[in-house]
Amino acid sequence: MNVEQALKVMKEKGYKYTDKREDMLTLFADEKRYLAAKDVLQALQERYSGLSFDTIYRNLSLFSELGILEETELEGEKKFRFACSTNDHHHHLICVDCGKTKHVHSCPMDAFEESAGDFQITGHKFEIYGYCGDCGEKRV
Ligand SMILES: [Zn+2]
Ligand SMILES: [Zn+2]
Ligand SMILES: [Zn+2]
Repeated sequence: MNVEQALKVMKEKGYKYTDKREDMLTLFADEKRYLAAKDVLQALQERYSGLSFDTIYRNLSLFSELGILEETELEGEKKFRFACSTNDHHHHLICVDCGKTKHVHSCPMDAFEESAGDFQITGHKFEIYGYCGDCGEKRV
């Protein structure tokens, strides 16, 4: 997903284009990591005085609903990042400090499928938390 694709998705679903929305998406494209609503507010409030946490949060939830952003909860706080553009099934290693992610292409579900029996699995979530190389180094 990139900004252009995201704006196209919005247009197709009948949502209005605004500078604010484009700036939010650009921020996610530049940062390439999980951001909290307050990070987005911090980055944009200089340009948009009077921008509220509510507006940011509503837009982030909308982006997430439209599949533009992925969301997760890190240490009790909702965080968002651009949805991955790859269709290959994968999972994320997530740095709880800076929000950067890394892909892992093996899936722990492979091991569970047999034990599911007659239970019909429709999906699963699996995330691994820790510290990325940079943040890990800062901690020692
Ligand atoms: Zn991914
Ligand atoms: Zn990190
Ligand atoms: Zn999986």
